[in-house]
Amino acid sequence: MSRVAYVNGQFLPLQQATVHIEDRGYQFADGVYEVIAIQDGRLVDEEGHIDRLDRSLRELKMSRPMGRRAHALVMRELVRRNRVRNGVIYLQVTRGVAPRDFRFPPPGTAPSLVMTVRRTDLFPTKVLEQGVRVVSMPDIRWKRRDIKSIALLPQALGKQSAAEAGALEGWMLDDEGFVTEGCSSNAWIVSKDGVLVTRQADHMILNGITRQSLLRIAEEAGMPFEQRPFTLEEAVQAREAFLTSASTYCIPIVQIDDHVIGNGHPGLLASRLRQAYASYAAGQRPDIQS
Ligand code: PMP
Repeated sequence: MSRVAYVNGQFLPLQQATVHIEDRGYQFADGVYEVIAIQDGRLVDEEGHIDRLDRSLRELKMSRPMGRRAHALVMRELVRRNRVRNGVIYLQVTRGVAPRDFRFPPPGTAPSLVMTVRRTDLFPTKVLEQGVRVVSMPDIRWKRRDIKSIALLPQALGKQSAAEAGALEGWMLDDEGFVTEGCSSNAWIVSKDGVLVTRQADHMILNGITRQSLLRIAEEAGMPFEQRPFTLEEAVQAREAFLTSASTYCIPIVQIDDHVIGNGHPGLLASRLRQAYASYAAGQRPDIQS
């Protein structure tokens, strides 16, 4: 089955799906995006992702390419046409096509909307059984990381150097040595005394939708948690470490740089939270045993 993309009002075979070379996304990275998981044909945490898309657009003074209801319908149609049961939908909105000029194009310039769907393994058995490695690196991004901008060069460089070091993810550090987040995920630890810790959402990180849902699930289950920065030092001595994102849900980390975390196996709390999130994604009540 060939893949179908959505480009500015048209469903097209991926090979024929193209954008104009003067699209501002192409020339200035002047755009925002979202990634939403598809589990059993359902869009996971759809409302949260679309709320965040609206927020990113507002922060950059960009307009929505279409109304929310129409957008929801088009996303479903794209998933249907690609016949994907488990995977992700990628969508990006840019400020549209205009002769290259740093200043915004004239009001009324239509924003571009591009969407693709891809089949993925939301439950990679080996990764979940064995856990993954992350490596630390300086956070060299701009100061508005709360906006889900398509300007991802620092993250691409970070992911590449992580891959070259045999790691799945890079954990980025601020100037004081605190972990901000992963190149494409939020960072979590379970502290020595069993408290779930993730950095507070401000301009320094992207407020992950998976992060927000997991915090809600943890709170409802009565799990102690704190939203505060933690250092790399604290992370390597933590009981557990894990990462969250829409496309991976929750993945246990068993090594940070050269340090083994806990007993070197995926942590219990991370596994429970992952299961709880998968149930929630399936539209069931997350059931967490403590
Ligand atoms: N931080 C960054 C920098 C990311 O790129 C992502 C994933 N896009 C996340 C966090 C996780 O966010 P979400 O749970 O909404 O996918």
